[in-house]
Parts: sequence; C-alpha cells; structure tokens
Amino acid sequence: MKYEEIIRSNETIEINGNDVFTSEPEQDLFEFIGDNHVATSVDTPMRSDAFDMSDKEKMKAIEGHFEKIMETMGLDLTDDSLKGTPHRVAKMFVKEIFSGLNPENMPKISVFDNKFKYNEMLVERDITLNSTCEHHFLPIYGKAHVAYVSSGKVIGLSKINRIVDYFARRPQVQERLTVQIAEELKRALDTEDVAVVIDAKHMCVSCRGIQDESSSTVTASYSGKFKDPQTREEFLKYI
Ligand SMILES: [Zn+2]
Repeated sequence: MKYEEIIRSNETIEINGNDVFTSEPEQDLFEFIGDNHVATSVDTPMRSDAFDMSDKEKMKAIEGHFEKIMETMGLDLTDDSLKGTPHRVAKMFVKEIFSGLNPENMPKISVFDNKFKYNEMLVERDITLNSTCEHHFLPIYGKAHVAYVSSGKVIGLSKINRIVDYFARRPQVQERLTVQIAEELKRALDTEDVAVVIDAKHMCVSCRGIQDESSSTVTASYSGKFKDPQTREEFLKYI
C-alpha cells in the first residue's frame, strides 16, 4: 500500500510493527514518518518540474520565502546581523548543502582497468559525511565506510568520497542515503560486490524530540560477495 493510500484510508494501520492510529490520518501518519525517519522510496522524491528554474531563480525565491519565515517569527530584518541571512540561507541551500539534488553536480566518475590484478576487497573507511534530515531539515553527521571487490575495474579513491558527498548533499533519510551510494558504486564499478556502512548522528534526535545526545544510527547495505558472512566479517574488522 502506498503512503498516499494509507493517508486516505480511515483506519488503524501497521508500519514496521507499529500500530498507527488514523482517526486524524494525515497528522498521525506524518508525525509517525518524521519521528521514525521512514523513507518512502530509494530515489529522492522529486517533482517533474524540479529543474525548470535556474539556480539563480531558486535562490531568489528561497530568499523571499526565508525572509517570510524570519518575519513570522518576529525577527527584525533591518538589523545588520539578520539582514543578509535570507540570502545566505538561499545560497547555502542551492549551492552547498542541497547541491546534490541537481544531477548536473554528479561527480564525473572515471574507472580504470585493474592492472595490478588486486582481487581482494578495497576498503575506504571514515569518510566524513554531512547531510540533512529531510523530516526536520537538521544536520546528520558522521562517517561512511565503503568497500568493494574489483570485477576488473577500479575507481580513484577520492571519487568514492565525492560519491558519498554528492548523495549526502540532499534532504535525506539515512537508509536511502546508504542505498543510493551503494547503487551508484555498483553502477560505476560494474559489480554487485559493494558494501556501505554509515554511522551517523541526527541533530533532530539530539536537540529535539527524545533529546538523546549519545546515540548514533548505523545503516548498512551489503551486496554480492558481501552477503557472505565471512567477507562481511572481514570488512567489519577493517572498519
Ligand atoms: Zn529528523
């Protein structure tokens, strides 16, 4: 059942073993999705007109909207310190923290032939990860660990960081981010033998809601040879 249908149906539903009471279906379900960080699809949900506007037009529009948010909160936008904030936020959204929404910013991936005949797993660990929770627009930050076994192709190491960074620069759900990175690596390297683990903290968990400072969330995607417990064990030992 799709989420839209669940919202419309007027009864108690179950998601991941949790009963969701739907007498006020929209509110309850949206709260549930947000607080439990449920992802509705592997692809980032985008509108078909997502790129009709240029970056410049988007920045202009977001600047105006953010100004309204600040005004609504009662902030004085004539103050020198606040005056430039709507513009700064708009620029940061479009050019920096959400630049990974635009396929034009996808890193160019070049792969090379595996001349050294290195057939063991290659692990790149502790890749810095900065993303944004799509349910609360608050930071997600932590580390990504990536491994693959070459099928004959190898990738420049910095490209792995760039792939992680590209998908992180979107409003995200950690599970989806993990899968998007894995899928792109599989495609680029032409192999199923890919593993991705992300260990990250969510500001929306530490500074609101449950307010838990210490917990972090670990998500993993194992494909191909990494489905084998021994191979997975080796990878986990390295990270
Ligand atoms: Zn959140």
